[in-house]
Amino acid sequence: MPIQERDASPATIKVLRPKLPTSAELLPYLERIDSARTYSNYGPLNGEFARRLGDLVGGSHTTLTSNGTTAIELALRLRCEQGGHCLMPAFTFIASAHAVCNAGLTPYLLEANPDTLALTPEIATAALKSVPGPVAAVLVVSAFGAPPDFVAWADFEARHGIPVVFDAAAALTSLSGIGQQPVCVSLHATKTLGIGEGGAIFCADQALMERATAMTGFGFAGQERLSSLRAGNYRISEYAAAVGLAALDGLPARLQEMRDLTAAYASRLEGKAVQLQRGVGTDWVTMTLNVMVPAADLAATLARLDDAKVEWRRWWGLGCHRHPAFKDVPRSDLSATDALAPRVIGLPFHADLSAGDLDRVTGCLQ
Ligand SMILES: *Cc1c(COP(=O)(O)O)cnc(C)c1O
Repeated sequence: MPIQERDASPATIKVLRPKLPTSAELLPYLERIDSARTYSNYGPLNGEFARRLGDLVGGSHTTLTSNGTTAIELALRLRCEQGGHCLMPAFTFIASAHAVCNAGLTPYLLEANPDTLALTPEIATAALKSVPGPVAAVLVVSAFGAPPDFVAWADFEARHGIPVVFDAAAALTSLSGIGQQPVCVSLHATKTLGIGEGGAIFCADQALMERATAMTGFGFAGQERLSSLRAGNYRISEYAAAVGLAALDGLPARLQEMRDLTAAYASRLEGKAVQLQRGVGTDWVTMTLNVMVPAADLAATLARLDDAKVEWRRWWGLGCHRHPAFKDVPRSDLSATDALAPRVIGLPFHADLSAGDLDRVTGCLQ
């Protein structure tokens, strides 16, 4: 291809461009570590970061973890002393299924509601009859950052005596009304509040959360260096907490950026057949934007995006049952997930997108 032609073709529009605090924003926190000379083990920056995160979600007890996957694993271990099946949606990021298995449970994959993309108490209740063996827990997944229905699931737990845990990995800034059921979030670099690698568990049950925190550090409770419960090392260092504190300082501006970008997309998508998630932009925002593309137009839409050099991604792939590592796990009929998952397409979403870029992306959608 002649050089001129190559220069004239537009640059690829990236689907995601993570942005964590700059070195200048980190410096005041790093200097605090220099003076305190505490580098991990629930140091002062860990304490402050946990408090500020808890305040962000309405004053919850908070345990920091090494990542979102270990947050889910620990929460499940806390709530299920015995093994058994864990009901969970097939349509989720594969981390959910890994966490369930690492907690000693067997995933039992279920459909999601096609409108909300989430598991519902009704779907879980109907499945109770067909699960071959005891049901130890339900892992409810927030659909790409949408707020889970905490009240309905607390009611499910009370009614059936089955513990509920929330994988709300991408929902940090959409959470309110957290109850007795642990809520797990991810602080991965690609998430709303990225610190590189990190996670957190929130819960109103103080005793449970004291055990959760002890489980992140060898099961030591208090000062005794005596391991009181089976645990591991799931802590974050003071350096990670420093990134977290600087990221929290920048969160209001980041939220405004995500609201503006979601609104810019919503106005361009008005009258088109593609659908945004319910409530996105009005009730909540997150760090990705997904559209549901009508099945009849899917192949053509993806071809138009590729031709326009617009990156897109199926953030959750085609469902956990489509991954070789989980192809044999028990499941209900998943024909609705098989129809839904291919149509859920993540669009470019980051602060570097111009109005022209957004026009180019949405021009590919019908
Ligand atoms: C990101 C994510 C996770 C995993 O979080 P990590 O911090 O990357 O371990 C789990 N579940 C869902 C739904 C996610 O989006």
